[in-house]
Amino acid sequence: MTSNGKVYLVGAGPGDPGLLTMKGLRCLHAADLVLYDGLANPLLLRFTSAETERTSRIKSQAGAIGGQEEINRRLIEAAQAGKTVVRLKGGDPYIFGRGSEEAAALAAAGIDFEVVPGVTAAVAAGEYAGLSFTHRDYASAVAFVTAHEDPTKDASLDYEAIARFPGTLVFYMGLQRLDALVKSLLRAGKSASTPACIVSCATYAGQQTIAAPLGQLADAVRAAALHPPSISVVGECVTRREAIAWFEKRPLFGRRIGITRPVAQAASAIERVLELGGEPILLPTIEILPPKDWRAVDAMLARLCEFDWLVFTSVNGVESFLGRLWDIGGDARKLGTVQIAAIGPATGRSLRQFGLRPDLVPPAYRAESLADELRPHVSGRRVLWARADRGRDVLPAELIKAGASLETLVVYRNVDLAAFSKIELDRLERGELDWIALGSPSIAESLAKLCSDAARRQLGQRVRLASISPVTTARAKELGLAVAAQATEYTWDGLLDAIVEAEAVK
Ligand code: SAH
Repeated sequence: MTSNGKVYLVGAGPGDPGLLTMKGLRCLHAADLVLYDGLANPLLLRFTSAETERTSRIKSQAGAIGGQEEINRRLIEAAQAGKTVVRLKGGDPYIFGRGSEEAAALAAAGIDFEVVPGVTAAVAAGEYAGLSFTHRDYASAVAFVTAHEDPTKDASLDYEAIARFPGTLVFYMGLQRLDALVKSLLRAGKSASTPACIVSCATYAGQQTIAAPLGQLADAVRAAALHPPSISVVGECVTRREAIAWFEKRPLFGRRIGITRPVAQAASAIERVLELGGEPILLPTIEILPPKDWRAVDAMLARLCEFDWLVFTSVNGVESFLGRLWDIGGDARKLGTVQIAAIGPATGRSLRQFGLRPDLVPPAYRAESLADELRPHVSGRRVLWARADRGRDVLPAELIKAGASLETLVVYRNVDLAAFSKIELDRLERGELDWIALGSPSIAESLAKLCSDAARRQLGQRVRLASISPVTTARAKELGLAVAAQATEYTWDGLLDAIVEAEAVK
């Protein structure tokens, strides 16, 4: 009986995280260790609590484990230590992906493994760029070809056979190989007028498609300054592209949106940006942590039924406070007849997982409006506000003025992150983001603090700022940050709507 773990070779798909398979998702959930390659979208790492390591075949890549031998060794050793390992590879694990070499090494070492197919780049690039490789009017075959990175192997490619291939040709290869590829095809007899195109960064918001007759493709691509990775397509199907292109028409197509929410709360904003065709960039500035100790919270949980109103001003407040109630063995019955107010719909929805419904949600989702709505109900009443360790103090002043007997309780902490990750900061400094969405005044403050001078110069210029509310806008302005769009509904959905609107008028 061995106590070995298991390795899953999982296709990550081409980039759009939604293209991961359900089986791949289950593997990520179950993993203890994830080794991902440079083509797998790091956004997928949100779906695992495993330790994660980036691999690179280029040994010098900072912080990455490199070399196929070393990767194989790492997979085998981790499995032998009893771990569930996911080897996450861009596209499909076997299509030009060396997954089969990893499988062979695992088999030789007697390690149990499974392979989970992924959407390969060619297929995804075709569909996201409006190319039907096997359209029945044009092609009854399609060939996936790699113009090898390893030039010694290139000799083995029979370009004459490829040029004669009666169907669509799809090439996986670096852009720097394009010139040589086109020359080889033309020399082998392919007509210079054959329709062709390149799709770069397929399924990402930065997807670009350049179409030109084969003879002019290399020049057209040079003029467009594309970014890797890219797929080249040669065949008549390119002529039908415009009719069935769709991805490039979505409202935030081509836009990178910095999401400043703490990672644990970013899921719905990320999904929405992806739906709109944009690329979410995780840019958390704060971290949500439990209170330093639970004594005060636990004491309050024991006397919950003394209160007439329980007020929540964030999802975090609900999750932390009621989560603690659950963890120490209680449930909703401990709330007795207390009424519940929630600042907005998201906070209201988060009550549902605890079997509760808010009695009051104000029409505008901010403290002033919440105070207005509560005012008629709180005179002489005992009110408990479950809050963060910092934030605005509008609510207590207003409620006390209205005659409430108010107690406040810190149920979670809002802690500034010490720094942006190096990758995100570099992107900011290069002005590669189009928008940063500011979800609160304290996030505006953290952003100002975490930016280097170079990054700061991009804010309000190349990188525009969108604000969730007038209060956030005002704070940003005090910090010298220009706000280009402001939400009319003070929620993350409203914030993204404001960005879509601002993009539409441009
Ligand atoms: N296993 C991967 C391919 C790895 S080879 C798969 O099945 O897709 C690497 C090549 O894949 C790149 O040089 C490029 O040609 C292609 N590629 C990968 N992701 C891509 C993307 N998002 N857009 C365009 N081409 C991509």
